Amino acid sequence: MLTRYTLPICDHDGSLSVEQFSVNKIICIGRNYAEHAREMGHDPEREPPFFFFKPQSALAQNNTDFIYPHFSQQVEHELELVVAIGKSGEQISVADAADYVFGFAVGLDMTCRDRQREAKQMGRPWELGKGFDGSAPCTAIQRGSLTTLEQYGDLVLTRNGEEVQRGNWRTMVWSIPELITEVSRYIKLEAGDLIFTGTPAGVGQVTPGDALCASLEGFSQELTIVIAKKQS
Ligand code: MN
Repeated sequence: MLTRYTLPICDHDGSLSVEQFSVNKIICIGRNYAEHAREMGHDPEREPPFFFFKPQSALAQNNTDFIYPHFSQQVEHELELVVAIGKSGEQISVADAADYVFGFAVGLDMTCRDRQREAKQMGRPWELGKGFDGSAPCTAIQRGSLTTLEQYGDLVLTRNGEEVQRGNWRTMVWSIPELITEVSRYIKLEAGDLIFTGTPAGVGQVTPGDALCASLEGFSQELTIVIAKKQS
């Protein structure tokens, strides 16, 4: 039977809707914050952001355990603002991009850095490092527009109560309208798509037993994930 991947939908006050957001593609933006590009050894002046995909099976609900994959020794957190797409379109202009935004969420682009590095070195795709099961935990989708987004401050991630990552979505290399334009230049955006908009600097390793809490200042939803023991 075909699995239907969904996320809860909520309003600004956090109240849950009876409807669910039906998730389609998961699009992830790479190197969308200059400081993070530098921490990964790249020059943001010379290399623009780019995108890659995670399968729907990467999606994980809030308040669930993250299963540490057996094929990695170096799982890292990437804290990201997620844009939920509400209608389909191709070749979307920057001026029209706002019409395609359904709402927002806070997500983590969990990454097996060792497998990603190995793939880079071998010139292979990143799927094993980026698209594994449960690698995209995400809060409920809060309905909202680019105007409502203006109310929110920094993205903040704590690990066992200690702040490990902080960044402001206003400093993204590609703004939200620009990334909708850039992605839709090559592939159609469809209702239900999620765009993980890239991570600010401060990515770091997680270990079993860690509790992660990802938030966006002023936003109704917080993502809470516990790193469960490693798969055998
Ligand atoms: Mn990422």
